[in-house]
Amino acid sequence: MTNKEKSAELVSKYVHVFNCPLCNSPMEVVDLRSLICLNNHTFDFAKQGYVNLMTRSTNSHYDKKLFEARHKIITESDLYGLLHQRISEVINENIETSNNEIMIFDAGCGEGSHLNMILDKCKNEAMIGLGLDISKEGILMAAKNYRKLIWFVGDLAKSPLVD
Ligand SMILES: [Zn+2]
Repeated sequence: MTNKEKSAELVSKYVHVFNCPLCNSPMEVVDLRSLICLNNHTFDFAKQGYVNLMTRSTNSHYDKKLFEARHKIITESDLYGLLHQRISEVINENIETSNNEIMIFDAGCGEGSHLNMILDKCKNEAMIGLGLDISKEGILMAAKNYRKLIWFVGDLAKSPLVD
């Protein structure tokens, strides 16, 4: 199975949280290739394992070099260790333990390292992370490094998620 198909399969398990960013209707994963809404708006999965849900092109100021530096600081220094620890404690204090589907959404996840490290510290197998960023470069790096999470390029002003 390719990374694209694995990503599409993962999204299909949680597809009920996605809403078309163009018309707000429910979406489904078709042929492990695309996310398609009731009105046939189609968003294809990328071969690197993410889906682009942008409805317009943007000129992000954040480039690959910035995300590489960010990745290095977050993963190789202990600068954010206490913060990750505390956030994971707050999450664990506030979840229903009986709930077998717990989604943690990082709105503006960049290259994904914060979300990945927080989930690692939560140590809960029922938890799935969803990371959104408007920067394709960031999501591309996140999808390459952290394959077990759901990554998508999107615009919070036109959120591709249900409330
Ligand atoms: Zn639509």
